[in-house]
Amino acid sequence: MSYRIGSGVDFHRLAEGRELWIGGVLIPHTKGAVGHSDADVLLHAICDAMLGAACLGDIGVHFPDTDATYKNIDSKILLKKTADLINAEGYELVNIDSTLCLQEPKIKPYVPLMQEAIAKITSLTIREVSIKATTTEQMGFVGREEGLIAYATVLMQKKG
Ligand SMILES: [Zn+2]
Repeated sequence: MSYRIGSGVDFHRLAEGRELWIGGVLIPHTKGAVGHSDADVLLHAICDAMLGAACLGDIGVHFPDTDATYKNIDSKILLKKTADLINAEGYELVNIDSTLCLQEPKIKPYVPLMQEAIAKITSLTIREVSIKATTTEQMGFVGREEGLIAYATVLMQKKG
């Protein structure tokens, strides 16, 4: 069996007047993530981890923020396109592990919805989509609520 591992990280600024999409779920909050797309930090980190595992570059190569096609795009579409790319290379996902770093709001109540959204797109089960969260104990730009970070690791296997 041939396995490939990949890692991804993404950052977005937080600002008032934007929606906060994380893991394909709209989260009620006073601030939202700023970006060319819907700025879903978790889905972007997962896309990058998948592309990395297949050695296919990064999300900026496939979905450039200079392309009007991707303006305000739902990142679930980007995740689906990335999953299609991986499948076309002959790989299928085994599992995803991820960590979100943000000060506010508490995202624990939304984790099952995120797992469901991601599992549906990637053809995984909910138990194969791990989403953890941490604050930075008020330190740095995350602690000041200026931005958020997501880290993701994926394992893929060659389809038999
Ligand atoms: Zn991003």
